[in-house]
Amino acid sequence: DAQLGPAHPRWVRVNAIKSSLDEQLDTTFNGFEIVPTIADVMSPASAGRKLICLDAHVPNLVAASPGTDFTKTSAYKSGAIILQDKASCFPAYLLDPRPEDGDIIDACSAPGNKTTHLAAILHERGFARGQKIFAFEKDKQRAKTLEKMVRTAGSDSVTVIYPGHDFLETDPNSPEFRNVGALLLDPSCSGSGIVGRDDAPQFHLPALTNPPSTSSDASNNNNNNSKSRKRKRRADVKQTGPEPKPGPGTDTTEPESEKDLQTRLSALASFQLAMVVHALSFPVAKKVSYSTCSIHAEENEQVVAAALRSDVARRRGWRVLRRDEQVRGMAEWPVRGQPLSSSSSSSTSGGEDGMEMDSTALEGCVR
Ligand code: SAM
Repeated sequence: DAQLGPAHPRWVRVNAIKSSLDEQLDTTFNGFEIVPTIADVMSPASAGRKLICLDAHVPNLVAASPGTDFTKTSAYKSGAIILQDKASCFPAYLLDPRPEDGDIIDACSAPGNKTTHLAAILHERGFARGQKIFAFEKDKQRAKTLEKMVRTAGSDSVTVIYPGHDFLETDPNSPEFRNVGALLLDPSCSGSGIVGRDDAPQFHLPALTNPPSTSSDASNNNNNNSKSRKRKRRADVKQTGPEPKPGPGTDTTEPESEKDLQTRLSALASFQLAMVVHALSFPVAKKVSYSTCSIHAEENEQVVAAALRSDVARRRGWRVLRRDEQVRGMAEWPVRGQPLSSSSSSSTSGGEDGMEMDSTALEGCVR
């Protein structure tokens, strides 16, 4: 995806807590023509037309003509629709939260796209009595954005937010978490896979000369004012940027040296590994989804492989989900990740055939 040009569909997730796809087709998307494929939405021949395509993989997700501004619609303002990229919809969908899973943890929540998606999926299935989503966010400022998004999306009654809390500081054996059956882990990363967003950190893409130009995952970035964009870029690098250190050039498009990139990736990978291993230690947890916005195997496949070699993973029998165990949309997703070297894959508990992972930087673990 990172190689795609600047034009991307405008992704819209219909929030099942506040609305339904049918209702949105009759209202917000009234006047849009439904076409069968995303290629139709993106076709140059479609320029100037108002088109939508219902996504084939993720339920309640719609791809609309590039550049369509939904931010003025009442559906957007009321939280009935959320502007969330397809890639950002996979982690909650793949985690496949169910009433019988007990409580769910979102370990790295702000601004709340995936937290609210978890809530919407569970809403459609019916929350079990007392079932909660625990949403951690270490950064207090970002936790405020999270609170707002969770409220707007109508998921506040089922979400317990831990503002300013470091997930790594939580005690998995605390009685509070005794029913946590599934965790979503979307930690800070290099952001090297982010496309189509004005404020995507550029320093991690030494080879990229043209900054992407449309907005996406942060969901609210339709502001084309260049001053606010610049301010936002600084803020985002600090906020979603790498946990250990964003690295050089955070405010410029200076290329980063290969050595600096490797140093930064390795610091990020250590942090991400600590997060995954921590998630695997919750006593009754059976599912973890791990995602990043990175295209680097160091932050993706290699983190999962290392996590599966950890004592806790071996002791508790964690493994990577087989394709046939994945939810429909993911099972059908054609692309899988890079094969790992035989030494790393053979030493993982789930790696008889090497690990089949998603190069969309998305991995699921179960036990
Ligand atoms: N999942 C979010 C969404 O879809 O809207 C995006 C998460 S963003 C990639 C990573 C977030 O994790 C940042 O807001 C960052 O402040 C937070 N974070 C980083 N380290 C953390 C930690 N140890 N505990 C809790 N939150 C953390």
